[in-house]
Amino acid sequence: MENLSCVVFTKGDLRMEKRTLEEDLDPHDVLLEMQKVGICGSDVHYWTAGRIANFVVEAPMVLGHEASGRVVKVGSRVSHLKPGDRVAIEPGVPCRRCSYCVGGRYNLCPDIQFCATPPVDGNLCQYYKHAADFCFKLPDHVSDEEGALLEPLSVGVHACRRAGVTLGARVLICGAGPIGLVNLLVAKAMGAAFVCLTDLDENRLQVALSMGADAGITIAKEQTADEALAMIKEAFKGDSPTHTIECTGAESSIRLGMLATKSGGVMVLVGVGPSSYLNVPVFDAAVREVDIRGIFRYANCYPTALEFVASGKCDVKKLITHRFELEDSLKAFEAAKTGADGAIKVMINCARPTEVR
Ligand code: NAD
Ligand code: ZN
Repeated sequence: MENLSCVVFTKGDLRMEKRTLEEDLDPHDVLLEMQKVGICGSDVHYWTAGRIANFVVEAPMVLGHEASGRVVKVGSRVSHLKPGDRVAIEPGVPCRRCSYCVGGRYNLCPDIQFCATPPVDGNLCQYYKHAADFCFKLPDHVSDEEGALLEPLSVGVHACRRAGVTLGARVLICGAGPIGLVNLLVAKAMGAAFVCLTDLDENRLQVALSMGADAGITIAKEQTADEALAMIKEAFKGDSPTHTIECTGAESSIRLGMLATKSGGVMVLVGVGPSSYLNVPVFDAAVREVDIRGIFRYANCYPTALEFVASGKCDVKKLITHRFELEDSLKAFEAAKTGADGAIKVMINCARPTEVR
């Protein structure tokens, strides 16, 4: 079948391409008609830089991994889905056999096949096949856009779980991009009493406040750590955050987050910057028993993310600022790249009108 797809060929070269997809299915897979696909910072990066760390675009690759679809056909061994079901697609399918997979931390599987991480094709296209057990059926009242947003929301679930956010937590979130904002939603849903975000961009903090943040701190680039720390102290009314979730990847922000976290607290590093070697106050954190943890995507988080959305505890819709059709994906990527008009989440509609199906 003909399959219009958004393909990055090499650095700076993004095109719409008519590919073909065979209809035959592995017994445990489903064929999906794609519905909504959100653009992630990593999709933009594979286009503008041609690589992220050691993952290099060496052959044309379909982008997209924040997605929902409608089941067209199921493999012979699939029993929990049927044609017509709407699903959210968890984009990383691990090997299921290694020690990480068996131990439940399948996000660490060295053989994971993750949509739009080279060389694996993503799903910003019309039709796509995926492992059925990594597809989550959406209840009628959860929209296709919300289904697509379960992907970034799952990053928030994993980060807040790793942080141990719980009832009464006071949470500092550094960075109010899409990932900072999903962490805000999840921290609140997990019972945090006070959530404060930082950003360089006043507009993004306004969005955070409209999504339920208790405070927002505008950081100026030239600001010293001491000045920023004083603002955080004031926002937290003299106390310190018990949990810090770093969602910028900026060295100065990581430094600030480490210094700001209450002794005995936890800081989770979500943001990833260009260099792994940073000048940060390790011993200050060590002697104050501030635990520093990292995350890599998520594992076992889609069901919780779906419950949060279905129950109304996390309203992810506010993240969406721009909408485009699949044919106009290049315009969508331009909007996501420049952040023009306050772009936060750019959403692409892949579903064709019924009459031309
Ligand atoms: P984004 O670029 O849209 O948002 C980052 C925000 O941080 C921006 O609003 C920016 O203004 C702000 N910022 C930059 N420097 C700052 C500073 N010094 N102080 C305060 N704010 C500052 O990106 P995003 O999509 O929200 O993703 C955030 C980060 O999370 C990225 O580094 C991304 O690679 C990473 N990420 C990691 C994982 C993981 O599994 N670890 C998963 C998804 C995303
Ligand atoms: Zn594995």
